[in-house]
Amino acid sequence: MDREWVMATIEEIAKFSTGGPGITRLAFSDEDRRAGEYIQDLMGQAGLAVRRDAFGNIIGRLEGAMPGAPAVATGSHLDTVPEGGRYDGVVGVVGGLAAIRRLAGKEPLPHPLELIVFMAEESSRFGFATMGSKAMIGSANPSWAKAKDQAGDGFPAVLGRHGLDLTSVRAAVRGREEIKAFIELHIEQGPILERTEKTIGIVEAIAAPTRLKIVVDGMAGHSGSTPMDDRQDALVSAAMIILAVQEIALEQHHRGTVGTVGIIRNHPNVMNVIPGRVELGVDIRGVDHDSIIETIQDLKDAVSTIADGQETPVAIEVVTADKPVPMNGDIINAIETACRQFNIPYRLMNSGAGHDAMNMAAITATGMIFIPCRGGISHNPSEEAAPEDIMKGIDVLAATLEQLAR
Ligand SMILES: [Zn+2]
Repeated sequence: MDREWVMATIEEIAKFSTGGPGITRLAFSDEDRRAGEYIQDLMGQAGLAVRRDAFGNIIGRLEGAMPGAPAVATGSHLDTVPEGGRYDGVVGVVGGLAAIRRLAGKEPLPHPLELIVFMAEESSRFGFATMGSKAMIGSANPSWAKAKDQAGDGFPAVLGRHGLDLTSVRAAVRGREEIKAFIELHIEQGPILERTEKTIGIVEAIAAPTRLKIVVDGMAGHSGSTPMDDRQDALVSAAMIILAVQEIALEQHHRGTVGTVGIIRNHPNVMNVIPGRVELGVDIRGVDHDSIIETIQDLKDAVSTIADGQETPVAIEVVTADKPVPMNGDIINAIETACRQFNIPYRLMNSGAGHDAMNMAAITATGMIFIPCRGGISHNPSEEAAPEDIMKGIDVLAATLEQLAR
């Protein structure tokens, strides 16, 4: 029964998509709004009191037996990347509701239970990630006011169409006295659980991205008449920097650090001109802060060697530098207890991807439960999670919520 309801609900939510391959349900789009309304109805049917906060986050609440007690919350997001999958975020929303539905059928727990659907978790539309949870913890970014989507729609105007006002998002802020704990159920979005044949991943820390903008200045010149030994080719230097990022990240890999050059802008990017200027976007992530610092230092050293050798000056700008977020020890123990209770194979692991949980950790005891996804594939139409894994994730989530709300 429960399994059928869960899988049918995930199937229903997948219908809220603009079409094309996979699921496209961008933050604050019509599809996103309709998916939110659909889940709000289901929350109401499950006996939850539903409201939307000043940022549009959906909050469903099942009162507890102890008046004024802080809530034990779970939740995730419904928005997707363009041509994404049907499980990223949705598993935590539907799974969270399934877990609360089960507990609602039992004797009331002392603490209230909440299901939170965070708005705009993906950065695809406005360039900012986990906006809903940031709004909830009081970390709304002033530059959101200038954010635009690809169609040129400004974020404040888009919010306005949803009946929301960016200047009053502070009303969405919640304090630690309101929420006792937050647990997010999510697909792993990586291959580790599948490879190690574990059903549950208990997250110990969420990796934080450091983003660098590297600008290489060379000398543009004629590709036919400039001798090979008299060139300052910015793209050649950039290629060496890309290889250096890979080499340094491989050296730090055993400490959980990864490095990626995801952006390259070559100027003037024409066939007959030696590249005069190249911009690179570098993303470095890890859970070990010392390792991240070493990675960046090694990269800076490598870059200055390349710059000198190639006679192409290089400027490095740190765009963002966030610290890794550890999950709460008591919550990790509670999830572990639940796994043992059901005899479910689990492992402790880190999350390379960012999640709303990493923001919630700033205001409350926070944990994350991962379930496997096939081949580790996510943000892709072929994203897939097995129904039996989803159900085991819900078993563990429900048991964890129950322990914490007792
Ligand atoms: Zn997600």
